[in-house]
Amino acid sequence: MRVSRSFIPTLKEVPNDAVIQSHILMIRAGLVRQLSAGIYSWLPLGYKVIRKIIDIIREEMNAIGGQEFHFPGLNPKEIWEQTGRVEAFGDILFHIKNREYVLAPTHEEIVAYHAKGAIASYKDLPQIWYQIQTKFRNEPRPRSGVIRGRQFIMKDAYTLDRDDAGLDVGYALHDKAYRAIFDRCGLRYFVVGASSGAMGGSKSEEFMVKSDAGEDTVAYCEKCGYAANAEVAQSVAALIPHQKESKKLFEISTPNVHSIDELCTFLKIDEHETAKSRIYIHDAKPILVLMLGNDEVNETKLGNVLGGNVRPAHPEELKEISGADAGSIGPIDFPHRIIADNLLKDGNNLYSGANKNDFHIGGIDLRRDVSKCEYFDLRTAENGEKCIRCGSTLDVFKAIELGHIFKLGTKYSDALGVLYLDENGKERPIVMGSYGIGVERIFACFLEQNYDEKGIIWKKPLNPFDIHLIGLNMKNEMVSKACEKLYIDLIAEGYEVLFDDRLEASAGFKFNDADLLGMPIQLIVGEKNLKDGKVEVKNRKTGEKKVVELTQLNSILKELI
Ligand code: ATP
Ligand code: MG
Repeated sequence: MRVSRSFIPTLKEVPNDAVIQSHILMIRAGLVRQLSAGIYSWLPLGYKVIRKIIDIIREEMNAIGGQEFHFPGLNPKEIWEQTGRVEAFGDILFHIKNREYVLAPTHEEIVAYHAKGAIASYKDLPQIWYQIQTKFRNEPRPRSGVIRGRQFIMKDAYTLDRDDAGLDVGYALHDKAYRAIFDRCGLRYFVVGASSGAMGGSKSEEFMVKSDAGEDTVAYCEKCGYAANAEVAQSVAALIPHQKESKKLFEISTPNVHSIDELCTFLKIDEHETAKSRIYIHDAKPILVLMLGNDEVNETKLGNVLGGNVRPAHPEELKEISGADAGSIGPIDFPHRIIADNLLKDGNNLYSGANKNDFHIGGIDLRRDVSKCEYFDLRTAENGEKCIRCGSTLDVFKAIELGHIFKLGTKYSDALGVLYLDENGKERPIVMGSYGIGVERIFACFLEQNYDEKGIIWKKPLNPFDIHLIGLNMKNEMVSKACEKLYIDLIAEGYEVLFDDRLEASAGFKFNDADLLGMPIQLIVGEKNLKDGKVEVKNRKTGEKKVVELTQLNSILKELI
C-alpha cells in the first residue's frame, strides 16, 4: 500500500478525550475515529488488523467444529420478553422506537429460536454455532475507547447439547480454542472464575489481561494460581473480634452525621466499631444488608446469595421502610429480613443507625440484639488479604475482559421451549453454553501490551504490514527507482509492504510516522547508502539499525520476520 494514496491520518498530539494508551495510539496512528460516544469508525489500517483478528478467531472456531452463522442485529422484542431479558438488560438494551424491535446485545435468544423444532432428536446433537458480528449495548459510560463501545464486534458461539456431560465437552473445546486464539494474537492473559451475570447459568470463566486501563478487578494468588473476578473472589479477612463484655444498647444524638466517616469523627471511634446499613429490594421485599465499617456491598455476591431480582432501594423509599433516611438506618427493630457480611459474625459494641433521623445506637451485640441476622460473604476481596485456597497473599488488580465462557444450562431452552427427543422418545430441554470474545478488545489489549514512547510495536500475525518501506528523498530518481523495484520485489516475496512514497514529506516526518505506526521492520532507502548498493534495515522493537547489501536483503529479512 502506498502512503501517498492512503488515508492514514496520523496525529502528533495526544487527543484530549483519550486517556488510556490503546485509545491514544489508535487515534494517533489513524486506526480509528470516534463518531459519537462509544461509537467508532474503523479506518483502513485499523480495519486491516480487525480482519486479521477475525481470521484467527474463525480458524480456531472452525477447528473445534464450529459452524459459522450470521444472525440479524435487529430482533423482534417479543423473543426477548419471553426470556425475561428485556428487564434483565434494562437500559443497556437499545429499543427501536416505532417498532417492537430491539438491537441485539448478544444472541442466546435467536440461537434458541432457530434450534427450536429444527433440532428434533438426540441424533442432531451436539452442535456448535458461532458468528462474528456487530453487537449493540447502550453502555452508560462508554470510555476507554473501543474497549467499551455501544456498538462492537463480538465472536459469539453457542453449544447445544443433550446433557451436562455434553456441555462439559463443548465448554472444554471453547476453553482450548480461546487459549489458541489469544496465544496466536500474542497476548499475555490469564483465566479467572467469574459470575454469570445477566446470562444466567452455572460455571463461567473470563479471559483477562492485566491492565490499569481495565474496568474489571481481579484477585490473583501467585502461589497457588487462584484467580477470580473481584465480583466473586473470596478471601480470608479477619473477623472483628468479640469483646469480652457487651454494653447495653444506648441511643445517641448524632446531628448532621450521614456517613461512617462522619460518625467516626463525631464519636472518635474506629470504623471497625461501626456497621453500615444498606437497604435493597429483593423480589419486591425490603432487606437490610449490614457491612463492617466502610466496606461496600458487593452487589454481584448479593445477587448470587439472594437469587431473583435485587436492586438498591430508592432514597424516597427508605423512610417508609425503616423510619429514617440514608445515614440513620440500622438493624435494631428493623422490621424486615436482615443479612450481614461474614466479618460481622462476632460483632458486639457496634454503632449503627437508629432508624430515626439524626440518631445512632451504640452497644449493639449482633448475636444478642439481632438474632435473626443471617451471615454471608458480601464484601469484595482486597489487596493483601489471604488467599481462600492456600492462605498466601492475594494480589488485587485491574484487568480487561477479553472473553467469557459460560455454562448456561437450560435457562433459554426452558423459557422458549427448546426440546429434543432422547433415545427413549422422551422430551428434554437442550443444554446450552455461550461463549463470547470482544474483537476490539483483542486489538486494544494488544496495544496496551506493545508500545513505547514513540508509538505502536506490532508483531506477527496482527501487524497491518510486515515492512514499512521508506524512500527518504523520493524526488531523487535513483531513490525512487530503487524503492519502486523493492516494493514490487518484496510483495512478490510474499511480504505485506507499506510504502512511504510521499514526495513532499521530510525524512524526519516519515521516521516519526513509521515509529508511530510501528511495523516490525523499517526499510530505509537513501541516496548515500544506495550509491554503495546498500539500504538500512531497522528493527522497530529493538531500535537496532543495520546497513546491508541489497543482494543480502532477502536473507536478512527472512531472519528478522
Ligand atoms: P463487561 O463486563 O466488560 O461489560 P460483559 O461481561 O457484559 O462485558 P459479555 O456479555 O460476556 O460481556 O460479552 C462477551 C465479550 O464481548 C466480552 O468478554 C468482551 O470482550 C466483549 N464486550 C462486551 N461488552 C463490550 C463493549 N461494550 N465493547 C466492546 N467489547 C465488549
Ligand atoms: Mg462477561
